[in-house]
Amino acid sequence: MKIHEYQAKEVLAAAGLPVPRGKAVETVDDAVAVAEDLGGSLWVVKAQIHAGGRGKGGGVKLASSLDEVREHSEAILGMQLVTPQTGPEGREVKKVLIVEACDIASEFYAGIVLDRQLGLPVLMVSAEGGMDIEEVAASTPEKIFKASFDPTEGLAVEDGRSLAGRLGLEGGLLDEMGELLQKLARCFLDTDASLAEINPLVRTTDDGLLALDAKFSFDDNALFRHPEIKEYRDPAEEDPLETRAAEFGLSYIKLDGDIGCMVNGAGLAMATLDIIKHFGGEAANFLDVGGGATTEKVTEAFKIILEDADVKAILVNIFGGIMKCDVIAEGIIEAAETIELRVPVVVRLEGTNVQRGRELLEASGLELISAPGLPEAVRKVVEQAQGGGGS
Ligand code: ADP
Ligand code: MG
Repeated sequence: MKIHEYQAKEVLAAAGLPVPRGKAVETVDDAVAVAEDLGGSLWVVKAQIHAGGRGKGGGVKLASSLDEVREHSEAILGMQLVTPQTGPEGREVKKVLIVEACDIASEFYAGIVLDRQLGLPVLMVSAEGGMDIEEVAASTPEKIFKASFDPTEGLAVEDGRSLAGRLGLEGGLLDEMGELLQKLARCFLDTDASLAEINPLVRTTDDGLLALDAKFSFDDNALFRHPEIKEYRDPAEEDPLETRAAEFGLSYIKLDGDIGCMVNGAGLAMATLDIIKHFGGEAANFLDVGGGATTEKVTEAFKIILEDADVKAILVNIFGGIMKCDVIAEGIIEAAETIELRVPVVVRLEGTNVQRGRELLEASGLELISAPGLPEAVRKVVEQAQGGGGS
């Protein structure tokens, strides 16, 4: 789960990291009121969407008067913000964060991700902050310094200090940065984050350190341990079909292709995506209906696939173990009663209660294309999605 910048800063502040004062609002009047409350003479108006690169897209603006706060908030609230991370359609801005502006002496980068090869979280820092870190990593990887850390111990004191030294800091500021990095690592672990990023982490002209922008992603499977973080969920930022799938306990991820997939088991779902690709098709989604799915769950899964306008054909690939083929069949039939089967459906059923499942589908009178084996089923569904097979 991703969260907004203003929420990420709340998470950081709670972990003892320094963030600028500010507040997120939904209206222009509130934006001006917040700026007035903050005081001072320079503010930053920042679009709150779940994507980075907002500055480049016109979603981060400096205001040197309350009139300018009003002007920028008016322009940003409601805009369709396009950044390198949103895709060409952009994202509608529903909230802006009004923060005090600070005098920047230098911009650093600090981020933590899981290194899958090491099997450890790794903290990365760079003096090339503020800009596209992927670009720095690609063109000048020697400018990024890393230290992995033990998920129970956290970042070692000497590693925090050593990274701070690599950023060119000395004396009190080096100590401060070392501690800040340790706190960031602790925060990453304590919140079960999968990504924690501060970019830019700035040194101010009066030699303070401040997190000016922050980004977090959390492990969905650990959210039950963090009710306060779960509260941060913003359904408006998520794919509505993914939100609905989550409510029904389905593992559904929207993809770019046009073949809707209903599969049981994450492993089989992954293999199905690979085989679809092998036969020249592109999957529209990953969907694991799980082991003990009920008819209701299967019905919902099928509806979700059908509601995705990109879907041109559906592949049902079920290897019945714990999941029974007749339950899948009932789900398909029920879904077809409430929502029109507007695309061809190829069904491959195998395993527990397969005979009963096939009988149910046949008796339903639905126009389904059945296939005995997986390669055959995939070949057929790719053909259907590409407009072949005469339908
Ligand atoms: P994004 O990464 O989405 O473009 P940022 O929050 O990083 O958004 O803002 C882009 C740039 O705007 C920063 O690199 C920084 O130079 C400037 N900026 C952001 N917040 C402030 C602030 N509070 N005071 C001064 N400058 C800021
Ligand atoms: Mg940034």
